[in-house]
Amino acid sequence: MSLCAGLVAKPAQNRRTLVTKRNAVVNHVIEGQRVRQLHDALLAWFGAVRRDLPWRRTRDPYAIWVSEVMLQQTQVITVIPYYERFLAKFPTVFALADASRDDVFSAWSGLGYYRRARMLHDGAQRVAHELRALPTNREQWLQIRGVGKYTAGAVASIAFGERVGLVDGNVARVFARVFGIEADMRKGGLREAEALAEALVAPHDPGAWNQALMELGATTCTPRAPACDQCPVAAMCVAHQTRRVDQLPMLGPKKAPKPTQLLALVARRRSDAGVLVVRRGTGGTFAGLWEPVMLECVDAESGEKTSEIRHALQTWLGSGGLATVASVKHQLSHRTMHVQVMTAEFEALPAFASIPTGDRYDQMRVLSPNEPPTLGLSTLAKKVLTAAGVDVAGVPLANEPAVNKKGQRSTSQRRPRGPRANR
Ligand code: SF4
Repeated sequence: MSLCAGLVAKPAQNRRTLVTKRNAVVNHVIEGQRVRQLHDALLAWFGAVRRDLPWRRTRDPYAIWVSEVMLQQTQVITVIPYYERFLAKFPTVFALADASRDDVFSAWSGLGYYRRARMLHDGAQRVAHELRALPTNREQWLQIRGVGKYTAGAVASIAFGERVGLVDGNVARVFARVFGIEADMRKGGLREAEALAEALVAPHDPGAWNQALMELGATTCTPRAPACDQCPVAAMCVAHQTRRVDQLPMLGPKKAPKPTQLLALVARRRSDAGVLVVRRGTGGTFAGLWEPVMLECVDAESGEKTSEIRHALQTWLGSGGLATVASVKHQLSHRTMHVQVMTAEFEALPAFASIPTGDRYDQMRVLSPNEPPTLGLSTLAKKVLTAAGVDVAGVPLANEPAVNKKGQRSTSQRRPRGPRANR
């Protein structure tokens, strides 16, 4: 029987491994002997070529959790220094839970996708203050907000040896090719890969098996020009055997990013050139991050809305005039942002309560030059500030406290410390 055929059922027994899709539609039948061959070949290969990465030198679930979150949509080579600095600064989940949001964002600054940092921080606080110990299996990890199936499976299998599968982009590609998955991987194909991952996970070392799959996808079975001649499972790979490597995985069209027009105001205090910045409240792409005041334009092309916004900002700031100095483009996966950058000066700090951005921001402050950088700025904010002539590398959190909407000054943004587990 070929490695893959079209039929039924449930995870592996001695003679055959049967994998189903949802609704009991049968999918792949894999002979037990072939499963063993696959395990043996891939695990032996992984043992011989695995990269020595810092998170592979530990079984600490917290460290593995941090690494898996950082590695989402970011390359290993980029993550390594961030991971090491982050763990040095926040060596335990309790240290992370006790840190301020700004400290966490500052340590994350440059990695992008700040939502990950926010969720990690929220998750650490839940662990430290409510659960009082790290979860020990996949089901428990899934109870942490922001921890999805992939991360839960990775931590549970690597740190605790739980026999659970996982699928990220690399593993999905490997399964699509090895098992010849014909369905679109942005739709039903992914569910097939997940069913395979769950059914095929190696019984004796699930963590090594999952990492071997990820490693194969990252280093050998790459999206373009995979190195099939060096692949340990080439003899069992449907795509390779049927010369369809360049056709798999099947990927349907992506949704086009939505264009968005914005105005950004880089306002400097006349007395010391300090820059006015505001912090995004909860929710949304940049939640918890600092930036110059930004507003979306409904109709930037006609100029009508833009002029209204300019007028509102100018009135709020008490400024003599706003000068347009640059335009900046910023690409997110779902949005293309076109930002018109304006500069202005102000004498006295304007009233935060009447800022013409509604509830978008929850804090306001002035950044003074020559202070050590400890602020969580988004990449977009850095681009805007740089375009306005602000030296972002040296710009920095002023010593003066932030102001909230009630005009109150906060001296600390740390959350109350909760009880700790005895670890
Ligand atoms: S043989 Fe080629 S396509 Fe198949 S798993 Fe190996 S690298 Fe990927």
